[in-house]
Amino acid sequence: MRIDVISIFPEYFAPLDVSLMGKARDKGILDVRLHQLREWAHDVHKTVDDTPYGGGPGMVMKPEIWGAAIDDVIASEEALPRMIVPTPSGRPFTQAVALEYAAEPWLLFAPARYEGIDSRVMIEYGTHLRLDEVSIGDYVLAGGEAAVLVMIEAVARLLPGVLGNAVSATDDSFAPGAMENLLEGPVFTKPPVWRDHEVPEILLSGHHGKIARWRRDQALRRTLQKRPELIERGDLSAADLKTLDTFRADGDPVAD
Ligand code: SAM
Repeated sequence: MRIDVISIFPEYFAPLDVSLMGKARDKGILDVRLHQLREWAHDVHKTVDDTPYGGGPGMVMKPEIWGAAIDDVIASEEALPRMIVPTPSGRPFTQAVALEYAAEPWLLFAPARYEGIDSRVMIEYGTHLRLDEVSIGDYVLAGGEAAVLVMIEAVARLLPGVLGNAVSATDDSFAPGAMENLLEGPVFTKPPVWRDHEVPEILLSGHHGKIARWRRDQALRRTLQKRPELIERGDLSAADLKTLDTFRADGDPVAD
């Protein structure tokens, strides 16, 4: 997958050299190209922002500089990228959206600073390429770079060859299929007892069927406890519904 990022802080993306992302880049699975927006600003101060029309606090990023940068980046290929503009007012970024993006060959991210990018840029590019304005949550960051890092990491770990064990992505919280609207339950490793806390006995039993059912029950329990609104959207089996009824009747879920 090719990923282009245009930003006034390309150095913000140093974490993409590390861990899974770094390895994916080394293996050629992820081709990340960082661009300094100020290279398209031609005044002596490399200015990328100006005061907002209508007054008010803060500055707005100038459309002609973004336009020149985007035009140059997308001119290199015949196909067009899917363009993603992070903004608190965008479509919520979810695991389903990460999967959608993981199927794209080319993503172009346009993280803003200040009060954002002049809205005409999104109108202009929204007419000739697929453009999404995307929010990573209901809070306001100082800039879009951290949001882009979050999205790249969530998308890239879904690409074939990035995770050591591809099955772990299908077992994750929110993974499409059985886990779509569920949180993953608790996980344990050795030793079997740590500071008087025992690993649940079922996990030591070697009984795969019972372990799978226990894990499913724990996912249901945790979701009911922490994100009950997700359960309403879930596609649940009769056994799942029975488990939920039990937790509800017992006054469960208890704290993890
Ligand atoms: N005035 C804007 C508003 O209220 O919607 C916030 C601007 S914010 C200070 C600067 C930039 O950070 C945004 O343009 C966007 O690129 C990024 N940003 C901030 N919060 C974000 C979020 N929750 N999701 C995605 N991007 C965000």
